[in-house]
Amino acid sequence: MAAQVDYNKCTMCGGLTQPRCVEICPDEAVRVQDGRIVVTEFLCEDCNECGIVCPDDRAIWVPVSAVTF
Ligand code: SF4
Ligand code: SF4
Repeated sequence: MAAQVDYNKCTMCGGLTQPRCVEICPDEAVRVQDGRIVVTEFLCEDCNECGIVCPDDRAIWVPVSAVTF
């Protein structure tokens, strides 16, 4: 499945160079590329850690049905 990014909502955590989703991801599946968040699907384990720390209401998230705990 992999985490989904809503670019209309993401503010890059207000302009942080190391946004929260990048910081929290245990699998290094999130990175900043060309000034926006990119998820590498095959690295993502659908843990939704990124969705929990995102300050911008679900700018990144894993659909509930796909979340692994
Ligand atoms: S945590 Fe949310 S607001 Fe911050 S960079 Fe990631 S998706 Fe964007
Ligand atoms: S769901 Fe987990 S593994 Fe996937 S991008 Fe978010 S923090 Fe990383």
